[in-house]
Amino acid sequence: MTYQSFNPATGKLLKKFEELSDTQLETKLAKANKCFAEWKMTSFAERAKIIGKAGELLHERAEELAKTLTLEMGKRIDEARGEVEFSAQIMAYYAKNAESFLADTKLNPELGEGHMESTPIGVVFGVEPWNFPYYQLARVVGPQLMAGNTLVVKHAGIVPQCAIAFEKVLTDAGAPEGLYTNLMISHDQSDKVIADPRIRGVALTGSVAAGRSIAAGAGQVLKPSSMELGGADAFIVLEDADMEHAVKWAVWGRMYNAGQACVASKRFIIVESVADAFTEAFQAALETLEAGDPLDEKTTLGPLSTEQALVDLLKQVEVAESHGATVVMGGKRLNRAGSYMQPTILTDVKPDNPAFRDEFFGPVAMIFRVRDEAAAIALANDSDFGLGGSVFTGDLERGKRVASAMDTGIMFINNIDWLDADLPFGGIKNSGYGRELGDMGIQQFVNKKLVRYVKADAPE
Ligand code: NAP
Repeated sequence: MTYQSFNPATGKLLKKFEELSDTQLETKLAKANKCFAEWKMTSFAERAKIIGKAGELLHERAEELAKTLTLEMGKRIDEARGEVEFSAQIMAYYAKNAESFLADTKLNPELGEGHMESTPIGVVFGVEPWNFPYYQLARVVGPQLMAGNTLVVKHAGIVPQCAIAFEKVLTDAGAPEGLYTNLMISHDQSDKVIADPRIRGVALTGSVAAGRSIAAGAGQVLKPSSMELGGADAFIVLEDADMEHAVKWAVWGRMYNAGQACVASKRFIIVESVADAFTEAFQAALETLEAGDPLDEKTTLGPLSTEQALVDLLKQVEVAESHGATVVMGGKRLNRAGSYMQPTILTDVKPDNPAFRDEFFGPVAMIFRVRDEAAAIALANDSDFGLGGSVFTGDLERGKRVASAMDTGIMFINNIDWLDADLPFGGIKNSGYGRELGDMGIQQFVNKKLVRYVKADAPE
């Protein structure tokens, strides 16, 4: 049984769900494909009615949806509410802007005239993670459905109730049968879906391991794919940074969603002259966090998503320590029911330590001390990942210089204000390829068709 809801704050099983049989899966794929034949002919205005309405319903149901999310994966309730509202904004954003993003663009060939059209390609298969159970869906639903594609989505096994609630939002918004379909399927069935000729594109957000498997499957059948994978974002503090400001962002960057974000700040790279001051202030701030029920608004430290996630993270810390890292604070599970981890700081992580290249998906910060800006850039770029990063400095031009020198898809200067519906999101290297959100997000799975018209005779 892959699809199970556990409350990670208590360890209690909430609900179990059966996987689809192959026959049920076939019926759903057939409906998605049939729906595409009609949906691609609909106008942007008609599509916007349904996607816009889904955004309104997300907003109206924010409290109930947030609670389901918190119960299923432990996100603190105020963060959960924020996620639902942001998902609603993404739907509204694409409902409003899709037509202009996909409008024909005029070309100016030497002979005659021409233009580019952007047309839908068919049924797109999404595979999505649990850490932002609604927002990750909104990120594909808004753009893909507004582009005229239909979607079948395999959500993560630990958030089935969120998956069902989101599908219901679309149904209640008036989505025709087959427009958006939640698939509770196994990894083997997922391979079959990728290979199915009715599927025309594959969008994954998840781990590097899942990326390798799913991108390889899509490659075998020559289907376009987008991969939003892991990260080990650098958080660089230069000697001229406003320390108080930087430390506040450091806490948020590492601890938001209990540290379980792909673009969380994971490697704190601090110039030597301010490293002690940063470490002391950062540690003091982490010590003020109070573990509790994530449904309680006073709680400032929630659980990890599952017991297994906690066990894996504790093991990673143990391995880091056995290879020479110093555990400056934390490193253990909290002495209470549920899957809670102490906020943790590691130092002395050398390049031969496995932790140096790892992604810590939880409240574990690695702090590195460096001589200067050039050393900070070199260390930050010495990573298999290339998702995001941030730099804190009193000099904006210096911040821009550092941002330009980073091998990542996203950089922030003096903040890590991760997301807006209109800002393209994605990485390079092991962090994947393709972009979601913004104008770029809707261009991922459309056919860019050249149409040329020239009055000329064929060459003799
Ligand atoms: P995961 O294990 O890769 O799971 C993500 C999704 O992929 C789930 O739906 C999972 O299904 C499915 N999956 C995994 N292996 C699969 C396979 N071989 N075939 C078919 N489906 C497969 O990742 P996670 O641990 O849940 O999520 C955390 C990872 O996602 C982190 O590395 C994080 O950085 C990354 N992430 C990246 C972004 C981004 O935008 N770049 C955003 C959020 C998270 P099951 O649950 O059924 O296994």
